Amino acid sequence: MKILPRTKLPDVTQVLGRFEDETFDTDELIFLKKQGRMEGKFCQLATSGVRPDRLYVGLGKRAEMTHERLRKVVSVSHKALMKIKVKEYRTNLHTVLDDAVETVAEAMFLSDYTFEQFKAEGKPSSIKSVYIETNDKKSLARARIKAESTCYARDLINMPPNILYPAYMVKEAKKLQGGKVKVTVFDKAALKKGKFGGILAVGLGSARDPAFVIVDYNPGKGKTVAFVGKGVTFDSGGVNVKPGSYMESMKCDMSGAAAALSIVKAASELKIQHRVIAALPLVENMPSATAYRPDDIVRMYSGKTVEMINTDAEGRMILADALAYTEKTYSPDIMVDFATLTGACVVALGYYHSGLMTNDETLATDLLAAGKSCGDTLWRLPLGEEYKDRMKSDIADVRNCGKGRDAGTVTAGIFLSHFVKSVPWAHIDIAGTAFLPEAQGYKPKNGTGAGVRLAIEYLQQL
Ligand SMILES: [Zn+2]
Repeated sequence: MKILPRTKLPDVTQVLGRFEDETFDTDELIFLKKQGRMEGKFCQLATSGVRPDRLYVGLGKRAEMTHERLRKVVSVSHKALMKIKVKEYRTNLHTVLDDAVETVAEAMFLSDYTFEQFKAEGKPSSIKSVYIETNDKKSLARARIKAESTCYARDLINMPPNILYPAYMVKEAKKLQGGKVKVTVFDKAALKKGKFGGILAVGLGSARDPAFVIVDYNPGKGKTVAFVGKGVTFDSGGVNVKPGSYMESMKCDMSGAAAALSIVKAASELKIQHRVIAALPLVENMPSATAYRPDDIVRMYSGKTVEMINTDAEGRMILADALAYTEKTYSPDIMVDFATLTGACVVALGYYHSGLMTNDETLATDLLAAGKSCGDTLWRLPLGEEYKDRMKSDIADVRNCGKGRDAGTVTAGIFLSHFVKSVPWAHIDIAGTAFLPEAQGYKPKNGTGAGVRLAIEYLQQL
């Protein structure tokens, strides 16, 4: 799909926004209002015919309009036109708010996403061109890069695990090599040599070798921001095998790695003025005769020991090694990890916000603000001393699972904090937001790319 800036719009299907508290001045609008079909209510849709020349979309109350609400408006109208297979349309929805070209364009690209490549008769979006009245090509280009990077993460997440396993992610990462981007790969032998005990332990049960990849975009200036992404390409639970219904969709357990990789891709394309690093620990968690087991004690990359309680708490094992290595090797100014880490986070926050835990107040403020501004939102959870006892082991430095089921998201964060020394660090649990059971406007069902737009927004404000 192309979004084409024009000084004069062509005569194609038109999308028109209407505020609830605006006058309805044309005959058609007066008629539609009389019938109760268009009153300007938020995201209400109405047309004058089956294949409309005009599609009206309700904008709600003028005073309540925000960039996020505008994204939702764009999404309902765009999807309605996709449904009736419109090929092109024009709109001036970006004039609803100041500086909204990027917002509107981004929402169009994000709403246009489909994943149809495994169907014999796949039906990608029908929409080829959207015309908007602007000459702001820079905002359009930025919107495209942000949305395409997000959709790249969605594609990776939606890929089935018999095709996408650690080696596939390594190959994807290598595609970014060149220019200011350097890719380093630790294969199984290198992981052994480097004593990455956590990554190796989880990888033991699978016929697919684990890997650890660093993608480093270095423009030679700015701060160093590292994103660590959990990359469990399929999570069966391991020896503590998941019950059937909980195993469904566990291909999405690499959503953190998909996000981190997509963030560096976007950072290099947007020429972000900071060094941006993605660290991707990649494994498949399977039960087998060679798998790690409960009661094992694992010596981690950092040297600390972990008493295994449950092999399904594997994400933290690989993240712990990746966090420790990244802090030690790159001394980043800021480190953020993204992980579909705990079912407890879905219980706590549902599918609307990612869980944020951090050791740094400035980072908390900045990330929460970035989330609110781009619609990839966070909700803060504690990471306090009072939870530490829940992770104490009798025979090792730390347990891999909390005692009891209480505060599962926080105790996972506490576990990770054992492997972070002094860097300002945020742990973002995307278990509820990375893979949706139902679409939420421009966020589709299944892989969403949660974290990508949040990180880009954060980097742009830094
Ligand atoms: Zn698991």
